[in-house]
Amino acid sequence: MKKVPVSLIIDDPAPIISVFYEHAPSKVTEDGRPIIQRNSNEMLFKFCDVVDKHGIKGKFSVVPMPGNKGDIVRGLDGVDDGELREWIDTVKARLLPSFTIGPEMLTHHKAVNLSDGSAYEMNERDWASTQDRNTLTPYIAKALEILRESGFAPIGVTSPWDFGIEVEEEYEASILDAVHEVTGSNIAWFFLRGLRDVPNAKPWIAREDDGRVLISIPATTRDKMWQTINSTDTSDEYVKRIADELITEDGKNGEMIRVLESGGYPILITHWQSLISNGLGTGIRALDEIGRRINNLLSDRVQWMSFDEIISLVMEDKSNYPKPLFS
Ligand SMILES: [Zn+2]
Repeated sequence: MKKVPVSLIIDDPAPIISVFYEHAPSKVTEDGRPIIQRNSNEMLFKFCDVVDKHGIKGKFSVVPMPGNKGDIVRGLDGVDDGELREWIDTVKARLLPSFTIGPEMLTHHKAVNLSDGSAYEMNERDWASTQDRNTLTPYIAKALEILRESGFAPIGVTSPWDFGIEVEEEYEASILDAVHEVTGSNIAWFFLRGLRDVPNAKPWIAREDDGRVLISIPATTRDKMWQTINSTDTSDEYVKRIADELITEDGKNGEMIRVLESGGYPILITHWQSLISNGLGTGIRALDEIGRRINNLLSDRVQWMSFDEIISLVMEDKSNYPKPLFS
């Protein structure tokens, strides 16, 4: 039997700057601790160790202008250039090619005025909701360009929040145009939607224009590690309970098992802040346990794939990946 892809979406990473802190409406966790403003490279190293150990693959965002604090090529406010370079170099050396890299638009915070780089008052999500391809294309192209300048080769994007969902057709056309303009690629991907609690949840062909193809890759589970942001519990029991929500110790239950049983692809999702757990790293430990369980229990049924590998799979058999109906 052909193995089913399993993949892990990591949203919101950026060097040092926590975009979560920058855009969070409250600057304290639900249990009242201050949200950390900076993430040490130590957390990236720990994450890379876990990924290496279990052969985990997927998608890893790099926010190009995190929190409107400069950009990852020309430097970030209050961030040591050496630390910034170390972060980028580590992502290249240790996460490529297992993870497909893409921007999560420019700032994951306030929208940027492209004419002078200043910040608008509104966030990127609200800004995008009233735009069309004429304004979205250069915005997306700018995000792709910054990542290219820092040595990545992105052909897809992640939507900060649900960026573009109100103008989805315009957004989709803009992604194809921007990716082609910046990289020459006729294939592009994006992540905007989740497909949860529906049977047969898989990626789909979102758009085909003049031989250009846009593939939408959805998350098919929920971010179970998010809860670690708001808890000081670091016990092994807590870590195992989080893993249980996706895949139980016997491999019989959990959200990812339900996706598999219903004929879908388990495309797991988490966030950089969920892994870092406000400095405690509990989420990274939960990922370690989840990776261990998947490899121990499901290695005859599933195979880790990067987004690039999922794209190849979809392109080999496009008619098998129709657009689903959204409820
Ligand atoms: Zn995000």
